[in-house]
Amino acid sequence: MTTSSLLEEATSISKQFDISKDQLVGISEEFIRLTDLGLKSDGMPMTMIPSYVTGVPNGTEKGTFLAVDLGGTNFRVCSIHLNGDGTFDLLQTKSVIPRSLMVGTAKELFSFLAKKVDEFIRTHLEEKFNEELGHPVNEHIYKLGFTFSFPVNQTAINRGTLIRWTKGFDVADAVGKDVCLLLQHELDLLKLPVHVAALVNDTVGTLMSRSYSSPGESVTLLGVILGTGTNGAYVESVAAVDKLDNSAAALADKSIMVINTEWGSFDNDMKVLPRTSWDDAVDLETPNPGYQMFEKRVSGMFLGEILRRVLLELHEKGYLFPRSSAPLTTAWSLDTSILSRVEADSTPDLVAVKSIVETDLGLPTTLPERQAVKLIVEGIGKRSALLAGAVIGGILVHLKACQSNPVVDIGVDGSVFEFYPGYEDLMRVALKDVIGEDESKIRIGIAKDGSGVGAALCALVA
Ligand code: ADP
Ligand code: MG
Repeated sequence: MTTSSLLEEATSISKQFDISKDQLVGISEEFIRLTDLGLKSDGMPMTMIPSYVTGVPNGTEKGTFLAVDLGGTNFRVCSIHLNGDGTFDLLQTKSVIPRSLMVGTAKELFSFLAKKVDEFIRTHLEEKFNEELGHPVNEHIYKLGFTFSFPVNQTAINRGTLIRWTKGFDVADAVGKDVCLLLQHELDLLKLPVHVAALVNDTVGTLMSRSYSSPGESVTLLGVILGTGTNGAYVESVAAVDKLDNSAAALADKSIMVINTEWGSFDNDMKVLPRTSWDDAVDLETPNPGYQMFEKRVSGMFLGEILRRVLLELHEKGYLFPRSSAPLTTAWSLDTSILSRVEADSTPDLVAVKSIVETDLGLPTTLPERQAVKLIVEGIGKRSALLAGAVIGGILVHLKACQSNPVVDIGVDGSVFEFYPGYEDLMRVALKDVIGEDESKIRIGIAKDGSGVGAALCALVA
């Protein structure tokens, strides 16, 4: 295979990941349409889950809170002290959830979680704890925010029933139960002075955390996750959420509510999202083909696998790595951090790409092969960032955010955003396509320790 045909092929593949300005605008328009539908009634393609968080912090909040985070592999317990000036101190412990508890009973899982909270309090907050030890349980001294990244049907700030487990969990008797009550019950059995005050999705936590720490007077309107998965939560007016019982007493004096969009499942119908044969192949490898179609083009769990699929095809057609037999055959073996490292290499000989492909894939390369890999990586990474920008732009258009605010602040959490070179710049290209010159009003900041601080803030406003 000649060098030029390899690079021609790679260029043409990379082009398949291009998205035009018109397409981006079409994507944002469809996103806005589904957003509106999701606010009107349940059972719509975009879930648009009300969080029951009805206020956002401004940085002056003070106090000490506990937060726990049950995500995928780890359980984190932390205490957060909010200093009231946009800064905080955070103490944290992390424990791996034993595999057996992920598929056992609710009692086993939640008593394990409570025990970890107990250990944390005894280890890190001992003095204060001793003072309070023995007090009746109703004298709760710590408010706890519970970050729980599984689908729940939330009915109040600290009430939510589990719809289904994901990410390898299968604790059957917890489905349909209120996860806050399950945790509170076990905390009470240990006589811990802790009140589960808020149930928090990680996007909502990110929004709250950024809103607390963002500089100046500006309000943070959007919290975005760009990590293993992708999702967004934003500040909506209560009046716009038709599906809420607006007349409910609890909402009578509330003007805003944070909405968790669950945008990972945007356009599962594939009306506007771009589609390549490699996307389809990756989709079929997942346990939920046809679902989370937006997420499968954007987030860290999938970008490495899309790259593997493309490189594998180039190899099978004889363009790439012809000297190696059966490389790249293991599904999910390329981590998305590889794309970041390839993207970062701007040396003429692509020396970093050389060492990455050699070390991570065990393959020697020629310069044209490295150039081909880089072209494809750039296509996949750029598409991810443009898509993220298009839906963020869609939310801002829906909110008319740039018309009514001099600065529009957005908080983001996740390794893809944090580490992928040039990701924000590419996101801004799409934002500009969707919202025009107002793009310059948008300020984007990383929400460090977002889930812990965000859960604490939700516990505070609860
Ligand atoms: P989580 O989503 O579990 O909260 P992260 O925000 O760290 O965790 O996201 C993890 C995802 O980010 C994984 O899919 C991983 O492949 C990807 N990732 C990790 N490091 C990088 C990096 N340097 N560049 C791009 N993606 C990365
Ligand atoms: Mg995260």
